[in-house]
Amino acid sequence: MIVMKFGGSSVANAERLRHVGRIVAERAARRPVVVLSAMGDTTDYLLEAAERALSGGGVSIERIEALHLGALGDLALPEGTAGEVRALLSELRSLLQGISLTGELTARTKDHLVSFGERLSVRIAAAWFRQAGLEAAAYDAWDVGFVSDSHYGQAELDRESWDRVRAKLVPLLDAGILPVVTGFIARDGRGSITTLGRGGSDRSATIIAAALEAEEAQIWKDVDGILTADPRLVPEARPVEAVTYEEAQELAYFGSQVLHPRAMQPCLKTNTPVVVKNSYNPEAAGTRIVPFLPRPADPVRALTTRKNVTLIDIVSTRMVGQPGFLERVFAGFARSGISVDMVATSEVSVSLTLDSLNEINGVEEELSRFATVEVKTGKAIVTIIGDVSRSSEILRRAFGVCMDLGVQVQMISQGASKVNLSFIVDDTQADIVVRELHKNYFE
Ligand code: ASP
Ligand code: MG
Repeated sequence: MIVMKFGGSSVANAERLRHVGRIVAERAARRPVVVLSAMGDTTDYLLEAAERALSGGGVSIERIEALHLGALGDLALPEGTAGEVRALLSELRSLLQGISLTGELTARTKDHLVSFGERLSVRIAAAWFRQAGLEAAAYDAWDVGFVSDSHYGQAELDRESWDRVRAKLVPLLDAGILPVVTGFIARDGRGSITTLGRGGSDRSATIIAAALEAEEAQIWKDVDGILTADPRLVPEARPVEAVTYEEAQELAYFGSQVLHPRAMQPCLKTNTPVVVKNSYNPEAAGTRIVPFLPRPADPVRALTTRKNVTLIDIVSTRMVGQPGFLERVFAGFARSGISVDMVATSEVSVSLTLDSLNEINGVEEELSRFATVEVKTGKAIVTIIGDVSRSSEILRRAFGVCMDLGVQVQMISQGASKVNLSFIVDDTQADIVVRELHKNYFE
């Protein structure tokens, strides 16, 4: 058994769907479960349609209709499927009319609304797969056991979902059926539709893969896997053959767009490998995300940056030798609901980074009561993912690069993570630093 998840751009139109059909057919012997996102930018279109309806702009779903009815026509899908698609589109129109009339869009209604994207895409794709000779059938996530809490927009599946998914899908696979399942959505105990958060289809796929103890979860995207750096920044960036879960999570967290950290969690529980593949280039090996890897020959696996970071220096000489300084600092942030990313401390000072300037004012005031606070905006975190047991070598080379560029490193963190070395530079310097680091480590 394998799980194959295709993202929006992989199923953006009829041509992409034909292509995906071939990719799936070639792997039919491995008993795939297919998980799909909404076609193209449908989720965004749905949210825009809701905004329009809310602000008195009326109901219009032309782009959504054009995309789905267009695919129906291009693929010459049978009347049964066309009827299902039209029924969903008319249900969608009614929902938007309701939103327009009441001028109200609750979190629950919003989840119901965006669910149409995935519900449409699986029906169209499954019909195409059948036309291409596969024994495919479309399923809404709840029909294969996805039950979540009622945390609309960010729902969490209940623990029994895993057992239900297994109990539903294994017999289907045994009967030779190719299930095509909606990503992203679920239903709560009361039967209301929920979503797992934007980009949540990856997580739907890894949950199914983990529940089935599948051979692997394949996440099909539009890039050749996880790359050594952002290719928009470093054209020489190349795919990494394999990374550990830990490395992938740090990469995702520190700015690499490939896989959301939460997406990997289910497979981490079962040690199920996750493979990131490119639907536009299926021959490329992609990147395997696995529990453990032997020590690599090269000390560095990949680089990433996160921009628009705020650096805060907190200094208090009054706190020398006084227990509780850090507690007071972090209590301030916790109370304001601000999540701190990187931290470096000395006896009398703490430097830390935040993702945004939101609400920093309140905390600044609180901290100023016992410390000097300096807030520096316009910073970037440069993250090196590699073998931290070789940190001296990695850092010697990194600082050599910075020195040659005349770039001052402003904070360093080599923390509990065994794979992440990060430092702060000015936003404007981050790109050149990463390019030069890439040359140094990979070229
Ligand atoms: N269609 C949803 C989104 O765009 C879920 C997904 O694609 O993973 O966020
Ligand atoms: Mg999408």
